[in-house]
This record gives sequence, C-alpha cells and structure tokens, in this order.
Amino acid sequence: MAFEIKTINKVRERFKSPPRPEIWKDVPDSDWNSWIWQQQKRIKNLEQLEKVLEVTQEEREAFAKSHEMFNMGITPYYASLMDPKDPNCPIRLQSVPKYGELNILPTDWEDPLQEERDMPVPAITHRYPDRVLFYTTHNCPVYCRHCTRKRKVADPSSSTANKQLEDGLAYIEAHKEVRDVVISGGDPLSNSDDRLEYILSRLRAMDHIEVFRIGTRNLVTLPQRITDIFADMVKKYKPVFIHTHFNHPKECTLEAFDACAKLADAGCMINNQMVLLKGVNDDWRIVKELNHKLLMMRVRPYYIFQCDMSQGISHFRTPIEKGLEIIENLRGWTSGMAVPHFVIDAPGGGGKIPLLPDYLVKHEGKKWTLRNFRKQQFEYIEP
Ligand SMILES: *Cc1c(COP(=O)(O)O)cnc(C)c1O
Ligand code: SF4
Repeated sequence: MAFEIKTINKVRERFKSPPRPEIWKDVPDSDWNSWIWQQQKRIKNLEQLEKVLEVTQEEREAFAKSHEMFNMGITPYYASLMDPKDPNCPIRLQSVPKYGELNILPTDWEDPLQEERDMPVPAITHRYPDRVLFYTTHNCPVYCRHCTRKRKVADPSSSTANKQLEDGLAYIEAHKEVRDVVISGGDPLSNSDDRLEYILSRLRAMDHIEVFRIGTRNLVTLPQRITDIFADMVKKYKPVFIHTHFNHPKECTLEAFDACAKLADAGCMINNQMVLLKGVNDDWRIVKELNHKLLMMRVRPYYIFQCDMSQGISHFRTPIEKGLEIIENLRGWTSGMAVPHFVIDAPGGGGKIPLLPDYLVKHEGKKWTLRNFRKQQFEYIEP
C-alpha cells in the first residue's frame, strides 16, 4: 500500500508498488511511507548495500575508489526497485558505482556547462535573458552516478548557507528582466517545507516574477516526500512548475503515481527531463514506454538531454545519433505530447541546443520538399 487514495482511478490500477526487500519486510507501513524514515535509512556503504543485493567485485572496488569523490546514497524505496541479481539493472546503474566512474577522459570537464562562469552571486547562474537557475541546497536523497554537478552535489563544504540564499534572492529582486526562476540544487526538496515556503513566498512577492519551477528528483527517488502538507503549501504559490527526472519505466511505480497526483491536484504542471544514458534508456522502445507511463501520471516529457561531458560519466554517454533515432521513432508514431525535445547543453556554457532528425529534404525558392515520419515526401509551395 502506498498512500491512502480517496477516489477510484482506473489508470492508477496499472501502477504497482515495488516488492520490499527481505531486510525491510517487517518495517511498519507508517515508517516505510515516511520520508523521514526513508531519508534516515539511506544506504551509504557496502555493508548496507550487501544486505539488499548481490554486490559484484566491480561494484565493491568502484565504491572503494569513488566514495571520497562522490558519496553513495540510496533510499530504501529506490533500492527496492533494483534487481538484486542483475548488475546491469537500470536502477542499479544509476545509483551504484561502476568502474566507468574512475575513468576521467582528457576531454571531460569539471564544469562542462560553465555554470560557475555565469554566476553573478554564488547561488545563481544567469545565462538566458529572462530566467535564472537558483541553487538552494547541495543534498539529494539519492546521488545519481550520472550527475552532471558531481563537483558540488553531496559536498557539505559547498552547501548553500542562508547568506548565499539571501544574496540569491536579492539578485533576483534587483534584476527585473528575470520572469522565470528554476529552483535547483542538489534537490530543492532536501530543504525543509519552511525553508521552501520562505523561498516561494519571497519570489511570489516580486512583481516581475511570473513563474517558477522546482527541479526535483524526489518524485523518482523519494516520492514519500510529497506529503499533503507540502502539496497544500505549494498550492498557495501557483503557478508552480515541477521539473523532474524519470529515466526508466521501472521508476513509474504506484508511489510515484500518487506523488505526481498530489502535485497535479494541487495545480502544479509537471515536466520530465530525461538524461539519455547508455544501458539505462538508450533504446526508443524504453523511452516510448516511459513517456506513455509519464502521461498517465500527468507528467509531460519535456527534454531528453544528451549526457554532458562531465568528469567520470563518460561510460554513460551515447552517440548523438541515438537521441535522433529516439525522436525519429516517437514523432508521428505516438502522441505528440509524448515527444520531448532532444537537446545538448553546449559544453562551454552555450546553453541548450535542440537537435531534430532532418525532415527538410530540399528547399528551392518557394518550393520546400519535406518528408514525414514514414519517409514519404511532400511539397509545400509558398504563395
Ligand atoms: C536549463 C537552464 C535553464 C532553463 O532552460 P529552459 O530551456 O527554459 O528549460 C535556465 N538556466 C540555465 C543556466 C539552464 O541550464
Ligand atoms: S537528483 Fe539531480 S542533482 Fe541530485 S544527484 Fe541526481 S542528478 Fe545530481
């Protein structure tokens, strides 16, 4: 049983809770469904991990060599989605260290998006004309092995102190061209409800701010965090957009469904930002299934990101053609709502650049020759 549900929902019946691993079989539901319990019982070392799955030699060695650089942290809930026997399980690849992380390529960057270059104050990246990224914490319930901000995330020495938060708010207040704020981190839901409400209320009080988004992976890694209290709080500050990060259909559980339902019922618009990861979701069939599930959860697929050139994540990178192939197999073949934009966040801080399969065959004067999803050609003639 995930959460108490008040209305009959036929779509909800398609979603299932993951089976609980043996070590947590006797945990009362009230603990299992509590985000505080989930947060306290996170798996942080090999000893705990071995109680949940058959740890391989590779995972053991990679953990020993990587945990000083980038912590391991896995909520019991997210661990319950893992296949205990299959080291290539897509959930395991995203949360348990592998050899690939230790391999730093000469072309890797510590900060490929040059987020620090565009930082007028420590908590803000201001790159686009009318919107900013606002860092509010460096903690996350699960540390994703493919995280592009490994340089900061999970590092307590870089935590966003109150002074930095105030400086960030003051910057936004002073910059009247900013109309959209991406509240980010780390995971902003690692902040207390009170601290989040303080941020939302300060932003809402600024006349030039039209919308804000909360960028969070809690819907995927700790859906219990979305309590009724949190949903009621967020409701007061609408319009609020939630930008989340589902990467695989296995992550679309009943718990995730209910967490999304609470936010959608509170009036939030939820968008998904998938990262294209080798061995996890580099197959259009998996992405299609994921996006169909997301729509049933009232989550709109928004971006597919080409994996960044950050240090220690090259084993996750796919050829760029893979992303184009995924779009080619979605556009026209399924609901347009299930077709996100495939983008590369340009190394060096150029921002997000969209890539599309080539639908333009040729263009001569007023005559445009186009091809459709079935590769049939058509001519459009301008007046
Ligand atoms: C991604 C990003 C945004 C938001 O971009 P959208 O295309 O509007 O979703 C804003 N600022 C920075 C620095 C970003 O990387
Ligand atoms: S939730 Fe986001 S910020 Fe946190 S580790 Fe995962 S990718 Fe990085």
